[in-house]
Amino acid sequence: MRWTERQRAMLRTIGVRLFEPVPSPADMPAPVPPLPTLEVRTARPAAPPLAAPAEPTVQRLSLRPEIATLDWPALRDAVATCRACALCESRQQTVFGVGHARAHWMIVGEAPGEQEDRQGQPFVGDSGKLLDNMLRALGLTRDEAPAERQVFIANTLKCRPPKNRNPDPAETAQCAPFLERQIALVQPRVILAMGRFAAQALLGSDEPLGKLRGRVHRYRGVPLVVTYHPAYLLRTLADKARAWEDLCLAAGVVKGS
Ligand code: URA
Repeated sequence: MRWTERQRAMLRTIGVRLFEPVPSPADMPAPVPPLPTLEVRTARPAAPPLAAPAEPTVQRLSLRPEIATLDWPALRDAVATCRACALCESRQQTVFGVGHARAHWMIVGEAPGEQEDRQGQPFVGDSGKLLDNMLRALGLTRDEAPAERQVFIANTLKCRPPKNRNPDPAETAQCAPFLERQIALVQPRVILAMGRFAAQALLGSDEPLGKLRGRVHRYRGVPLVVTYHPAYLLRTLADKARAWEDLCLAAGVVKGS
């Protein structure tokens, strides 16, 4: 495979190492070991497997139907003042999400961690830096830009679970209407669900992440692609090439929309 300079630069940005040695960017973790099989080869933005019949949209009853009609300011206020579960006792602040109100790309993570809880912004820690690099490789950003370039980043839970423990099902059920409303307002062309928790919560599935990757799902009619959580990728560098495939799948969806 011959890589153009631009493709090389993009892959370096997310830490994928090509067969020929390339310097690792300073802000990335330890260099990726040589990849015996470079899955990236098959990962050029290609026609996504949209031809397959669309997966059924999961429709669940909302615990809090009143949220489904809120506009942005009212939704922001409802999140900030939410006391529907015990996470409100331990949070420093809620983390609403950031980005373009009509972004083409919506990124959904799990829940705020310590730094997010302190700063009130999603993905500001190490995994946030990796996320920013992944976005940059696709020509996307969280900074101000037109809707096709500026993403919207949200979490499944708006409050930090103590000690970053896994969210419990009751917390997820209480918080889900906020994310549902955010998605309905943004009307993204693709949702990128990062990590098992976001993917399972949005799809109402208990399938493992490995089974959910590699195809285009639907969330209330919106195409949804599942990929690894950046925190996982920081620990498992070898899966960055697979994550790049996922991003290319999502990029193909947006391109074809
Ligand atoms: N992990 C997430 O899933 N979301 C954040 O905002 C930060 C870390």
